[in-house]
Amino acid sequence: MAYRAEYIWIDGTEPTPLMRSKTKILADGAEPGIWGFDGSSTNQAPGDNSDCVLNPVYTVPDPIRGGNDVLVLCEVLLPESFEPHPTNTRAACVEVADKFASFEPLFGIEQEYTFFKDGRPLGWPQEGYYYPAPQGPYYCGVGAVEIAGREIVEAHTTACIEAGINISGTNAEVMLGQWEFQVGPSGTVEVADELWMARYLLYRISEDFGVNASISAKPIKGDWNGAGAHTNFSTNQMREGYDAIIAACEAIGGPGKVEEHLAGYGHGYEDRLTGLHETAHYSQFRYGVSDRGASVRIPWQVAKDGKGYIEDRRPNANIDPYVVTRLITNTVCSAATP
Ligand code: ADP
Ligand code: MN
Ligand code: MN
Ligand code: MN
Repeated sequence: MAYRAEYIWIDGTEPTPLMRSKTKILADGAEPGIWGFDGSSTNQAPGDNSDCVLNPVYTVPDPIRGGNDVLVLCEVLLPESFEPHPTNTRAACVEVADKFASFEPLFGIEQEYTFFKDGRPLGWPQEGYYYPAPQGPYYCGVGAVEIAGREIVEAHTTACIEAGINISGTNAEVMLGQWEFQVGPSGTVEVADELWMARYLLYRISEDFGVNASISAKPIKGDWNGAGAHTNFSTNQMREGYDAIIAACEAIGGPGKVEEHLAGYGHGYEDRLTGLHETAHYSQFRYGVSDRGASVRIPWQVAKDGKGYIEDRRPNANIDPYVVTRLITNTVCSAATP
């Protein structure tokens, strides 16, 4: 029987790209191959030369449609040359991952996000002063007062597991209506492919609930937590000894590196990295054990064991993970290359 392949890609919308998808019906036994789309409708091409190419890079069973149907994450290529499109950040990520493969980098990314309905975060009051009680009871909360949207979170988690995505956990966040899921540990390119696919499933499943899942970095101004994408990272050397852990922190904070990394850590990081709400100010770089006010945190267990991984707390929820994992892999592994 024929089956459906949902082709998914990342568009050219500035400053934060959107995800797009369309359906291809394939004959029984046919593989999802190269396809195309109208780049003039996605901020990826002018109208008079609009064709862009979709090249499948990561295919999983479609947990929404079921059966033999699949989800196909694609990179975007230019027609004729088949070179990477300017919006294709994956190609450069693959290059760095290949160059430093001997370091066996692993990433775990914590994707925070906020549900919105009727123009306000899910669960926020529809009348009166519109704001819920101040932050405090919501993080990892339980109960109808503390929680909004759990049914969507559960459906999304089940879908990720059924798709074979390496999802490692979920939790309710500090602001009411805000949540987190984690993917990893997976490789430099793999974790980013998985995160984009998991985001697609989040948007798609939330759509069925009439809710918008937003990865805005500071969805509500004021005394409300922003949304990040803390990026946990290790190499084989870091998983074996503490010197490599410190060397990685020093490399990430090295000359020119703070600015280079921040430029790739997501639109509007200045609004989120204020020095409040469990962040370090973006203009200051500091690392420390158990320090949730640091730029880079060394988990206490890692300090105790003398090996493990580090957490870069600066990336925004709205990052392009291909950019972030490329930057960290390149900076840490270059510095560790004799
Ligand atoms: P936090 O305490 O900051 O909320 P989480 O439990 O949300 O931490 O996320 C930790 C992430 O780190 C998970 O995605 C996990 O898979 C990842 N992780 C664990 N060990 C490693 C490792 N050695 N290298 C890279 N990432 C790792
Ligand atoms: Mn977390
Ligand atoms: Mn969190
Ligand atoms: Mn974290």
